[in-house]
Amino acid sequence: MSGEALLELRGVSVSFDGFRAINDLSLSLRQGEMRAIVGPNGAGKTTMMDIITGKTRPDTGVVRFAGHDLTKRDEAAIARLGIGRKFQKPTVFEALSVRDNLLLSLKGLRSPFALLFARETAEEAGRIDALLETTRLAPHARVQAGGLSHGQKQWLEIGMLLGQEPQLLLVDEPVAGMTDAETMATADLLRDINRTRSIVVVEHDMEFVRALGVGVTVLHEGSVLAEGALEAVSADPRVIDVYLGR
Ligand code: ADP
Repeated sequence: MSGEALLELRGVSVSFDGFRAINDLSLSLRQGEMRAIVGPNGAGKTTMMDIITGKTRPDTGVVRFAGHDLTKRDEAAIARLGIGRKFQKPTVFEALSVRDNLLLSLKGLRSPFALLFARETAEEAGRIDALLETTRLAPHARVQAGGLSHGQKQWLEIGMLLGQEPQLLLVDEPVAGMTDAETMATADLLRDINRTRSIVVVEHDMEFVRALGVGVTVLHEGSVLAEGALEAVSADPRVIDVYLGR
């Protein structure tokens, strides 16, 4: 893919009651890139995601995505531009099968009851089969989502987001609470998805970040403290200071 910026934040700041949660933050993501965002609690990671998705409006600065100024759009409009966000806690419909959860998402429906009046088209069936393969859930297609493991629920929700064909996927701490095997499978899954989509992933688990093998941005006090390969960033004395609290 080309090297042009898909997402760009420039000089972004936001304060809550006089406290600067994001402070002159600049960050750029290339088309096709996957980036890990790390940083101690309170560094501003969640607020940054909130700004990108339009949940929080910055006080100053520029946020651009695929040539659009995001600061002038609301959350729904930003989602329609092709930004999908996966929150930490999975929100699948537990009483529905894995397959029906994916169907609901493809149809853009919000209520399981709406499925009573909806038919799966051949085109949707094909797309669901592909999503089941991508998310490693094909053997569980007919299982109720409530019966999946925690990790599998997270993969299902990622599949539901992919059904909306986002260009950019924002993923918040996807491996929190996962087993080691699920964590490594999630790294594989995100690498697969990254073949066709850009990804920003906020994560504390450094083994997972290592397994992703992507560039890392360290946030601290609402700005970028360091950026680069994990090895270089984790050897940076400023990063060590922040993490060890010296
Ligand atoms: P992280 O996700 O890196 O842990 P956050 O983005 O959640 O950090 O928070 C950054 C800082 O902004 C924290 O000090 C937090 O208390 C503060 N903050 C975040 N959202 C709000 C809010 N809505 N009102 C007041 N303070 C907030």
